[in-house]
Amino acid sequence: MEIDLAGAEAPIAAVRAQVCVIGAGIAGLTLARKLVERGVDVAVVEAGGREIEEEGQRLFAEAELWGQAHVGTIDGRARVFAGTSVWWGGQVLGMSRDAAAAWPIAWEELAHFFADMFAERNPQADVQSIIYQFEALAKPDADDHHSGIACPTIILTGSEDATHSSAAALQARIPGCDMKILYGAGHACQIEQPWHFDRYMIEFFKKHGLFPGAASA
Ligand SMILES: Cc1cc2nc3c(=O)[nH]c(=O)nc-3n(C[C@H](O)[C@H](O)[C@H](O)COP(=O)(O)OP(=O)(O)OC[C@H]3O[C@@H](n4cnc5c(N)ncnc54)[C@H](O)[C@@H]3O)c2cc1C
Repeated sequence: MEIDLAGAEAPIAAVRAQVCVIGAGIAGLTLARKLVERGVDVAVVEAGGREIEEEGQRLFAEAELWGQAHVGTIDGRARVFAGTSVWWGGQVLGMSRDAAAAWPIAWEELAHFFADMFAERNPQADVQSIIYQFEALAKPDADDHHSGIACPTIILTGSEDATHSSAAALQARIPGCDMKILYGAGHACQIEQPWHFDRYMIEFFKKHGLFPGAASA
């Protein structure tokens, strides 16, 4: 049940739960879901609505910053249902054992959590198939893996993306592959610099006669 507390007749007094999670960001919602799966009654309180509103976002600007002001402390947070994940760039980085050592949660517990999440998203996956997939990913590609690509190919790479340094080597392996660098952009370069991304893609399509109505150059 969802109650809009900004609504006039919000029956807040009627809500009873064993656990109240404050904040429906990725952390709060994941926690709430895990508790519900264990049969716990949960209420989630979220300060934002279903859409980002200017008024709510302004509250971050009024926050008092102590210590080091990180980039994005104010602009990089969303007060909305699902929290800042509404903006995330789609990169899921693994946690190293060194980083995990500083956490109060054992690395093995996190590994179980990851395996559960993986299996949930792919009902066909069991632990062994997950292990096979990651073993295969860790192996180098076969020699002809890229050299056999025969269709027109382009790499669009953000200069700030963690994978950018490997883009030139990938281009060299694919016959006739074009490459364009979006300077200043990261992994989600198509979202960060759509004007460059679209221009490069249209040029590429036109060059190969793939753009609707355009003859091959
Ligand atoms: C542009 C951008 C791209 C990103 N890309 C990635 C990426 O590719 N990969 C990645 O791993 N991470 C990425 N991140 C970071 C990631 O989105 C955040 O780390 C993550 O969403 C944080 O989740 P959270 O639940 O801890 O906090 P938040 O998502 O900030 O959620 C907190 C929630 O609590 C609510 N709240 C706050 N105070 C109260 C209160 N008093 N009462 C009730 N509710 C309250 C807020 O409204 C908000 O909904 C990105 C972030 C940004 C800004």
